[in-house]
Amino acid sequence: MVRWRAETNSCRRAPMMPQILLCPETAVGAGTGHLRRAIRLCKQLSPDARIYLAPDVRDGVVHTVSHELGASWIERDPAALVAASAIVIDRPIIPREEVAALCQHAVVIGLDAGGSGRALCNYTIDIIPRLRDDGRANLRSTAFLELPRSVRSAPPAIYPRILVTFGGEDPKRLTPRMVEALLQTGEVNAQQVTVVRGPLAAWDAPGDVRVLDRPSNLMEMLCDYDLVCTSFGLTALEAAAARCAVVLLNPTRYHARLGKRVGFTDVGVVRVNRRALGLALSDPALGLKSAALVDRRASQSLARTIARIAQAPPARCPICRRPGGEPIFRDADRSFYRCSCGVLFRTAFTDPGIAYDEAYFFEEYRAQYGRTYLEDFAHIRVLGLARARRVMRAHKPPKQARSAKPRLLDIGCAYGPFLDAAQHSGFACSGLDVATAAVRHVRDVVGIPAVAGSISDPSVRDRWKPGDLDAVTMWYVIEHIDDLRPLLRWVQRTVAPGGVFAFATPNARGISGRLDRSAFLRMGPRDHVTVWTPTAARRVLRRFGFHVVRVVVTGHHPERFPGCGAVRPGTVAYRLLLGASRLLRLGDTFEVYARRREERE
Ligand SMILES: [Zn+2]
Repeated sequence: MVRWRAETNSCRRAPMMPQILLCPETAVGAGTGHLRRAIRLCKQLSPDARIYLAPDVRDGVVHTVSHELGASWIERDPAALVAASAIVIDRPIIPREEVAALCQHAVVIGLDAGGSGRALCNYTIDIIPRLRDDGRANLRSTAFLELPRSVRSAPPAIYPRILVTFGGEDPKRLTPRMVEALLQTGEVNAQQVTVVRGPLAAWDAPGDVRVLDRPSNLMEMLCDYDLVCTSFGLTALEAAAARCAVVLLNPTRYHARLGKRVGFTDVGVVRVNRRALGLALSDPALGLKSAALVDRRASQSLARTIARIAQAPPARCPICRRPGGEPIFRDADRSFYRCSCGVLFRTAFTDPGIAYDEAYFFEEYRAQYGRTYLEDFAHIRVLGLARARRVMRAHKPPKQARSAKPRLLDIGCAYGPFLDAAQHSGFACSGLDVATAAVRHVRDVVGIPAVAGSISDPSVRDRWKPGDLDAVTMWYVIEHIDDLRPLLRWVQRTVAPGGVFAFATPNARGISGRLDRSAFLRMGPRDHVTVWTPTAARRVLRRFGFHVVRVVVTGHHPERFPGCGAVRPGTVAYRLLLGASRLLRLGDTFEVYARRREERE
């Protein structure tokens, strides 16, 4: 809450450090796994994390956490939820309204999250495999499991030492059922069996079996057993990682389906299938099969991953600043949203790490297009002549304001092929680019004034006064800009009435975006912040004082039509498809030409 943030800011820590609030499940019957995970993460993320326990959480839970961590690591005040920059919810069921409220202020990370709130989480990590919703996870990996350090030297082929463990509560009394079934096979005697009794167990230990009462570190004890009988969940995965043989008796069909999907051997739901149990006990390969289910080498740090994700800003539209709502696509690095303005945007959880320097125009450009930007100069210049003609046609200044040559600024001008074309077409040109080598080339070789800098930098924008320009162009630049609102307002002020704002950008409603939006977004470059459609462009530009006078859909790819991968350029089929693509405006990119409306004052 406020105290925490103030204290963090004034002391040794940099003010930008994320403050992470861990919200574990604490409900009666939920077991202690979530709490243990939160305590562990809190220690690893220290000093930037706290555990949030709502005012109504049971005293026993609060004592457990403060005993492990100390009371200063616990937040009880709901105000803490507003102060945190990231919130990690580790609960199997989260209500939608709850996540919606939290997303306003923070990045919400769902850890093995379920319920209606899952879809709204900004980032989802599934560590324990799920049945549904797989497309809705940013990260899905058992490699985040904290695995036991004590491991058997080899998986067993016979199973004389058996552990039966069904969690802290075991409300379906799976423990006595399993013990009874084991003893009835005739192959197991009571001395071979150990049962784990949790703090809330409502059954009596059967007969002569050994009882472990509330073991404090069960995970590291698993390797002392040959066979672990449990239900699907953390303990099953830990036992497999310790290279024990594992059989599952599940409390629900849902657990059974999950267990089967991972590959566990199952002996029933609530009631033990005696035949299946007998087969498992006499299977010498059961140990090997179980051990193969968890890859120990893949172990990753969950804390490090959360610390990285927590750096992301809350999801807001770069134009409207409205909260993102439910992500429409997720991958490990990004979550995409569709704003009501029609623009798709993403939040990035890893730095795309692209600097627009010489390497970008040479190595990276070549990797993508097979030639360097300068080698492409003549080709882009030809495209530029057509674009400059369209800008000129869209330009309709009021009669009294007609100057000799309309003034054009190309933002992201690179090495200047468009500027060269626009100058040839009668514009008084200038360029702006973040790459200083490119700007030097424009000035010294192309012979057109150019400035080095970013249009996102207010001091760069201040170089142009209101009404200073008749045209602003951005060819494949707008999608790279993080905060578009100040830029669009600047364009609105700086372009004189009747002047033109034109840009080109990928088209989310082209053939690729329509056929498979997820694949289209997945393949999109990591440094693209927004994805536009012609309709969204019309709507957004209207809001910023522009009227779209022309949309040119480009990037037609007949070979991307379903079943047309083999169609070659030059054939009749190719020409027909090309015609259809143009007619239906299915190109994967588009250009928009918008005219500044006259203001009546
Ligand atoms: Zn928006």
